[in-house]
Amino acid sequence: MKKHVFLFPFLLIFCFSFATAQNGYWQQHVDYTMSIEVDVEAFAYSGEQSLIYTNNSPDTLQRVFYHLYYNAFKPGSGLEAASRNAYSDKRNMSKNLLSLDEDDWGDVKILSLKQDGVLIAHTTKETVLEVALATPLLPGKSTTLDMSFFVKVPAVVRRAGKNNSDGVAFSMAQWYPKLCEYDDQGWHANPYLGREFYGVWGDFDVTINIDKDYTVAASGYLQSPEKIGHGYADLDPEVVHGEKISWRFIAPDVHDFSWAADPEYIHDVVPIKDGPVMHFFYKNQAPYLKSWKEFQPYAVEFLTFFSDNIGKYPYKQYSVIMAGDGGMEYAMCTFITGSGYSDYRRLLGVTSHEIAHTWFQFLLATNESKHAWMDEGFTSYIDDAALNEALGLNNVVPNKGAYEAYFSWVATGLEEPLTTHADRYKFRRGYGASSYSKGSVFLSQLGYIIGEENLYKTLRLYFNEWSFKHPRPYDFIRCAERVSGLELDWYLMDWAQTTKQLDYQVNSIVGEGEKTRIVLKREKQMPMPIDIEVVLNDGTSVVYNIPLTMMRGHRPLAGARLLESWSWAQPYYIFEVDFAKESIVEVIIDPLNFTADINKKNNRL
Ligand SMILES: [Zn+2]
Repeated sequence: MKKHVFLFPFLLIFCFSFATAQNGYWQQHVDYTMSIEVDVEAFAYSGEQSLIYTNNSPDTLQRVFYHLYYNAFKPGSGLEAASRNAYSDKRNMSKNLLSLDEDDWGDVKILSLKQDGVLIAHTTKETVLEVALATPLLPGKSTTLDMSFFVKVPAVVRRAGKNNSDGVAFSMAQWYPKLCEYDDQGWHANPYLGREFYGVWGDFDVTINIDKDYTVAASGYLQSPEKIGHGYADLDPEVVHGEKISWRFIAPDVHDFSWAADPEYIHDVVPIKDGPVMHFFYKNQAPYLKSWKEFQPYAVEFLTFFSDNIGKYPYKQYSVIMAGDGGMEYAMCTFITGSGYSDYRRLLGVTSHEIAHTWFQFLLATNESKHAWMDEGFTSYIDDAALNEALGLNNVVPNKGAYEAYFSWVATGLEEPLTTHADRYKFRRGYGASSYSKGSVFLSQLGYIIGEENLYKTLRLYFNEWSFKHPRPYDFIRCAERVSGLELDWYLMDWAQTTKQLDYQVNSIVGEGEKTRIVLKREKQMPMPIDIEVVLNDGTSVVYNIPLTMMRGHRPLAGARLLESWSWAQPYYIFEVDFAKESIVEVIIDPLNFTADINKKNNRL
């Protein structure tokens, strides 16, 4: 799909002409300065945090909230209860949490909290800290929040913790008291039930004091690497390390910060031409030495593919870190488990997916809890496209698996709409089939509706307008409308906000001398423009395009013959072709299978 790369100059023009698209948009801002003292024996740390929080909203804030994620990792927590009551809970988090020794429970204690030097009241409600401000924070004003805290690191139950399955000592995601986001829909102080994230944009300045044998991998740029060594730079011969090393990382323009540390990390550095420096951290253990080397060129290729097709990776470094459980995306890095990935090919899918997340949701920072499909779905779509190219698979529909997963979930009759909150899907499989699969189909099907080139132009416009912000579904579909010139709100609404299904049928073929009438029928509620192929007995075929009337136009035809548009309210559509019925071998709706038509059998006659 390198053909999409040349679109950039065109989009620059686009950006200027739509510079007013976000009139009235605002977002909060926070700058973090944190320093922690790690006790590697006790798997605990004490920390000091200073936040400068700026209220860019038009509202006066009386309260603020923080996430305290590690309080979820103990028996009786909301996470444990939600997991216990979840259907088909393969991870079985509840069982794991209930069987933890108390030593392995997570805990975050707030020791003191001051606003502009004045002690303020705060209440810990499990994974959320509720804070009443001493002085209300007026629109346009900033306030400083100073906190002392103590954290006990849990065993790895979900994404973060101590001694993961590869034996990585510290997998530190969601590890600090993290300010909740406030936007034009109010506060988002979600209790942590194991799923998605939403954070405040800002700058992080983080110092980690840890025993000198540990190599630290983190979001951001390591300061004075020559005083640290550990693969970041040649160690200054003048430097003699004491018991601990003080690692200071600066991460500008992010909404989260993560780190991992282990005394056995190998640290490889791979600079990308005109791109960031990639860092790879993995355990110095036999099964990984080969696979974690062999997949590095692919990781470079994935990052480059996303840079070329969505928007240029804006930071100077990216790290792939063996840590956590499974794979999870963070600021300028990802945590990926090594276990079971002794063959490098088994690392490719997860790596492509997690690196793609840098764009969706990290840079295009949707509220993942409310719009999980814009995060997981868009990521799944583009990671399949990257794999298709990197591995030379040449699949016409690279995300074919997403269609299959969606179809099989629809068949259960249990589907919930994509507007469902990520934590509150009734079924775990429903969350996956919806957010990942139906969300991925959202994009490929949009490519069918507006044309694939227009889809990639849309992604670039979306990136140019909405990176480093918090876009919402309508912000995306407006980009698609402006690129294509078509009206598309029907698509967002019916695909993402309902569980309407798509089924079109070739109803009948009626010969009338040298002409033939073809009758189509819309069997279900979901509207869709129709590509229809008429295959002739001389081996040729003709493709027709039937737009929806409510699109007010059609996609670039690419050789297809344009027919009258089809009004959604009409269940039948009849058109005439200049071929005798005897010369027609077959009539096929959507011959390339880009639409999520739930009954393919009636697509042909
Ligand atoms: Zn994902």
